Amino acid sequence: MSAPLPMRPAARESILRIAPYIPGRSTAGAARKEYKLSSNENPLGPSPAAREAFIAAATSLERYPDGGATLLRDAIADTYGLKADRIICGNGSDEILSMIAHAFLAEGDEAIFTEHAFLMYRIVTLAAGADPVVVAEPDMQIDVDAILAAVTERTKIVFLANPNNPTGSYTPAAEVKRLREGLPASVLLVIDAAYAEYVRKNDYESGIELVATRDDTIMTRTFSKIHALAGLRLGWAYAPAAVIDALHRVRGPFNVNAPAIAAGVAALADRAHMEEAVAHNAYWLPEVSRRVRELGFAVPDSVGNFILIDFSPVEGADAGNADDFLGARGCVLRRVAGYGLPQMLRMTIGDEEANEAVIAALSEYRKGLPGG
Ligand SMILES: *Cc1c(COP(=O)(O)O)cnc(C)c1O
Repeated sequence: MSAPLPMRPAARESILRIAPYIPGRSTAGAARKEYKLSSNENPLGPSPAAREAFIAAATSLERYPDGGATLLRDAIADTYGLKADRIICGNGSDEILSMIAHAFLAEGDEAIFTEHAFLMYRIVTLAAGADPVVVAEPDMQIDVDAILAAVTERTKIVFLANPNNPTGSYTPAAEVKRLREGLPASVLLVIDAAYAEYVRKNDYESGIELVATRDDTIMTRTFSKIHALAGLRLGWAYAPAAVIDALHRVRGPFNVNAPAIAAGVAALADRAHMEEAVAHNAYWLPEVSRRVRELGFAVPDSVGNFILIDFSPVEGADAGNADDFLGARGCVLRRVAGYGLPQMLRMTIGDEEANEAVIAALSEYRKGLPGG
């Protein structure tokens, strides 16, 4: 006799193991003026040309978008010197990560990522019915040998955020290459380069060069960060032909909407606006890091548009209390206990006013502590 049927429709067991993603808070509640620095959004906003293209697209909302996002793929191909047929676009790069998991993972497979990696890797792995394998990240740096040691014959994917969010650390090109060369050819290496445009390091490579020479590696990118189009949900990936082919098979036929395509094309064309965002961050990232360190808190080096503030070196300080204290002064930062970093907060680099507000509030918080 077979087991009795459930009393109601039941999701797969692995789906119920997913802890839902909790986005950065948009409001702290009490304060009048608020500085939202919890989701790594770009304080300069999108290119005015992208905004105009978005508004112009509102005149034809009755029409389906081009399912192949051809104009956008061509614009990306032109910008980066790539072949358009090796590019796929998504409703945010999160959607592409999810398509990758659905196309390449099955029940019983394993996907590897590191201890403080972006939370979406666990979510998409479990959603595909596969098992997450978490590798230690000593001093919040990627340890290539530890990743290689975790590979089994069940491993199908390795996710690598480069730079990583929330740690802000990056893996040099030579190390990424060593990782790739140490992995079996059957393992897909996913390089998530959401913050690539912000990185100003000679030994960094976003993944384009590696993907160009191999058939086992994919790089994902986003319009949410440097292009400030997070609300539109737009991402892309560059991958070998066979990987692109598999992703097209699981992709919804109209996964990227028409206003997003139009705005994305315009954003890529406005090179000056993008460079302004890079320059803003290049000034404020070290400036904010230095001034927060001067208050006695630790700030690990970051190459992204955000920093971690580590409260543990200061007696009596606590990330939870500090978050409440900052929130009451309108500064909305991100708790990262869910990333295994309970004594830290993540702060997005904001505009001048927001950055100064956080530094002033932190300084006040420090003064209220023993020895402050
Ligand atoms: C913000 C972010 C993304 C981008 O997500 P979208 O879905 O494109 O908005 C991807 N990976 C990491 C590590 C991020 O921090």
